[in-house]
Amino acid sequence: LFISFEGVDGVGKTTQVERLRAYLESRGRTVVTTREPGGTALGRAIRRLLLHGVDEESADIAPRAEALLFAADRAQHVAETIRPALDRGEVVITDRYLDSSLAYQAGGRELTATEIRELSMWGTNGLLPVRTYLLDMDPALSHSRLTHAADRMESAGNEFQNRTRQAFLDLAAGEPERFRVIDASRSIDEVWASIRTDIDGLLLR
Ligand code: C5P
Ligand code: MG
Repeated sequence: LFISFEGVDGVGKTTQVERLRAYLESRGRTVVTTREPGGTALGRAIRRLLLHGVDEESADIAPRAEALLFAADRAQHVAETIRPALDRGEVVITDRYLDSSLAYQAGGRELTATEIRELSMWGTNGLLPVRTYLLDMDPALSHSRLTHAADRMESAGNEFQNRTRQAFLDLAAGEPERFRVIDASRSIDEVWASIRTDIDGLLLR
């Protein structure tokens, strides 16, 4: 069972990933929780480049190079962590996956969704989650909840965040059987209740 969480920064993905992990473990499942970018050692090196630039003098990463770095992170993530766990029959929950690349690199920047999707599908050998929870809320609100200092990505500005949110919603509308759009402006418990109802149905299938 492969599950991803998506949404703009600060919507509470990490919190809900933990809730879901605890719940599934209480139901006797073995669960691997992970994240992108940075789910592997190679991924953490790539994440540092993406979020903080190469060094002080050369902070710029060209859009195509950036897309390839995210795709490389994902390829390693699938090969090293996700696919082996799924092969062992475990549940994998990832904080971000392919849809983040589509929403951020294609929705927000200059590359097309088709290019990004093909890149990622090649890198992952076509692996997609069976369920994707899109935690949706106004980025102006979610941003104010972030406790750490904004990184290179997060400081991209409100218009970019709004476009990214819309890109996520469009992706969800295009694949209603994989996505569940969750109103993340509610309390943690209310958000979790929505996810739990859905996962109970998924476990029965
Ligand atoms: O969610 P997390 O803070 O780990 O993501 C790091 C940053 O990378 C986020 O601010 C997000 O905007 C960006 N990102 C991206 N493309 C992806 C995944 C994340 O631009 N495929
Ligand atoms: Mg972040």
